[in-house]
Amino acid sequence: LKKKRLVLVIMIDALGHRIVKESGRFEFLQAPDGPLPSVCGYSSACIPSLLTGKLPIDHGHWAMYQKNLGDSVFRNYKPIVQLISGFFGRDGFCQRILYRLIWRQGLGGYFSLYLIPPTLLPKFDLVQRKDIYAPGAFPGLETPFDAVTRLGLSHQVFHWRTPEQANREALADAIKAGRDDFLFFYSPHLDGVMHSYSTKSRETADSLADFEGFTREMLELAGESYEEVRLLVFGDHGMSDTHTETNPLARLEALDLKLDRDYLYFIDSTMARFWFYTSGAREKVEAALTPLGGGRFVSDDELKGLGVFYPDFRYGELCYLADPGVQFVPSFMGHSAPKAMHGYHPSDVDGDTLLLCNYEHRPVSSIMDIGPLITEELEALAGEGRE
Ligand SMILES: [Zn+2]
Repeated sequence: LKKKRLVLVIMIDALGHRIVKESGRFEFLQAPDGPLPSVCGYSSACIPSLLTGKLPIDHGHWAMYQKNLGDSVFRNYKPIVQLISGFFGRDGFCQRILYRLIWRQGLGGYFSLYLIPPTLLPKFDLVQRKDIYAPGAFPGLETPFDAVTRLGLSHQVFHWRTPEQANREALADAIKAGRDDFLFFYSPHLDGVMHSYSTKSRETADSLADFEGFTREMLELAGESYEEVRLLVFGDHGMSDTHTETNPLARLEALDLKLDRDYLYFIDSTMARFWFYTSGAREKVEAALTPLGGGRFVSDDELKGLGVFYPDFRYGELCYLADPGVQFVPSFMGHSAPKAMHGYHPSDVDGDTLLLCNYEHRPVSSIMDIGPLITEELEALAGEGRE
């Protein structure tokens, strides 16, 4: 006996509206809403906004790192960092040890230590401590994973914790088994390909073709086990090709300011955030970076409009944002620039994603409509099951 209906979600990180339209892929699905803007920030902000339907200020997740508010996941490792960094003088070695210690703490969220100087890590904290694909990830806010629990539906999630190929096989197996009401598949693969090769590369075209084939295959497979399949395919943001590199770090290091005494910074690949401890530090930073070009300081009012102004300045007192296509090199993310990047102002059209479906749904206008739409589908499915 076939199960009535499956809600099947395939979330492809960085599936941009532009690249899908340029490639001509996924034309067997409908995308009537056009480009969907993301929110200001990286996937650490975009995915929580997509799932909760709220702005970063409402769910609390913006950058992967915020300042240490007193209970940082790194708080106990300061002596280890000082010992290892000093003794071996090797940050890479120190980072590998730290990564394992944090992992063993049982942190449920996605994190990377990137190339953040290990001695600075205890100044910061990881924001995503829980598995955001599990119920209860955002207290007071509902994601589709809270909804399935509330509705008593059966579901499975396949995400970054297990390798892509294993996830694809597990999804196919789950579809064939036909036991679940809701299957959620997340892939970071396309995002990685575009960072390495650019959005216009052969590799990106191949990856899109591969995801199209995979999606079609899963849809066909689901048609064999379920009477009806509601398929939703989307990204959390798009991607812009890199055309310029700038070096704010060099300008900061040339200032007569001492890191951790006068100020603190976190340099992401497109966003630099600052905290100030002594008077005059802010003015010096502003004077140093204003003539740099390729970026600008974002005013508090604009941050408020973007839903990323935190009155306790946990993410920084001042934010310097790169223009689309510009990257800060070096940064805490790396010594060289990826071929393409995201994390620009959400008005950058290359940052838009899209929603591809095999059925007609109510109109959506940003990534923040996607999670609530999935929840509505789950509610409809649960309602029909009870009839
Ligand atoms: Zn990315």
